[in-house]
Amino acid sequence: MGRVYNFSAGPAVLPEEVLKEAAEEMLDYQGTGMSVMEMSHRSKAFDKIIKDAEADIRELMNIPDNYKVLFLQGGASQQFAAIPMNLMKNGKAAYIITGQWAKKAYQEAQKYGEAVAVASSADKTFSYIPDCSDLDIPEDADYVYICENNTIYGTKFWQLPNTKGKDLVADVSSCFLSEPVDVTKYGVIYGGVQKNVGPAGVVIAIIREDLIRDDIPATVPTMLKWKTQADNDSLYNTPPCYGIYICGKVFKWIKKMGGLEAMKAHNEKKAKILYDFLDQSKLFKGTVEKKDRSLMNVPFVTGDEELDKKFVAEAKAAGFENLKGHRTVGGMRASIYNAMPIEGVEKLVEFMKKFEAENA
Ligand SMILES: *Cc1c(COP(=O)(O)O)cnc(C)c1O
Repeated sequence: MGRVYNFSAGPAVLPEEVLKEAAEEMLDYQGTGMSVMEMSHRSKAFDKIIKDAEADIRELMNIPDNYKVLFLQGGASQQFAAIPMNLMKNGKAAYIITGQWAKKAYQEAQKYGEAVAVASSADKTFSYIPDCSDLDIPEDADYVYICENNTIYGTKFWQLPNTKGKDLVADVSSCFLSEPVDVTKYGVIYGGVQKNVGPAGVVIAIIREDLIRDDIPATVPTMLKWKTQADNDSLYNTPPCYGIYICGKVFKWIKKMGGLEAMKAHNEKKAKILYDFLDQSKLFKGTVEKKDRSLMNVPFVTGDEELDKKFVAEAKAAGFENLKGHRTVGGMRASIYNAMPIEGVEKLVEFMKKFEAENA
């Protein structure tokens, strides 16, 4: 069997070209006679891999010199703890709750200080982004936290919140490198890479230098202290070497595709095909307020649970994998990250049309 169209929310589809290249280099990476999995993280070959990866992501995202790029482990979820540990000076932070991931980060922060929920869209099952233009942000908050793209619910902040001068911390796990970004608007941008960039096991954190501090509680584990990682160029201990290598290849692929402007155009085109279909369909319906729709995660329902199940099963049989919605939401969700080709979305819509005709 060949490759399927994989609409998984994460770990998710990666560029086929990258996978092929990695396969070719599996046994002998560029004449070293070994796999990247087998080489020392202190070797010359790996040093070049991680330095090139950093240089390429800096170029893609236009990251200013006063931001560090850290390649870490522990998933995005570990940063839910690292963020308050490293950033809470006054012991207070403002959280905007737009879904499960934001809520988890908020709950984790409560262990270390006072996390204040300044806005939430829980009242309508997180199907929209609340108005964040004039929030009641505590005077002494150390930062304002958002989850920029809500993987489960399919919403996206198209406008960043007015943080009233506080540093913005954003979880971009599911929209990483999907469009151009102005890094200077953030104190910290971070995300697990397994949604849009690479294999699970790597988290990339882009942190403004003045937020990488030494004067944090001595009880913060060495590994969770950003300064440890920054001072050692992400090589304090053995990093997730193979994952970083694949991320580096994905960065090169994005560069070859034309960078983040081109990614955005490609993603808009794909999302439009699917949303246009949903907007005129008599059977399928998008679940998110139009103005807040994500380009990456597209949840939809028929309104009939049995029919949803039938759709997911028939889609799977036809080669469209992982369309089942998140267990807390039900229905369907198509994640159409950077590496999902346009044909994948076109063929999915064709299939949905056919299903609609057959089940009218
Ligand atoms: C998947 C996801 C997470 C959790 O990532 P882990 O790497 O599994 O900890 C956090 N935030 C967002 C937005 C996600 O999509």
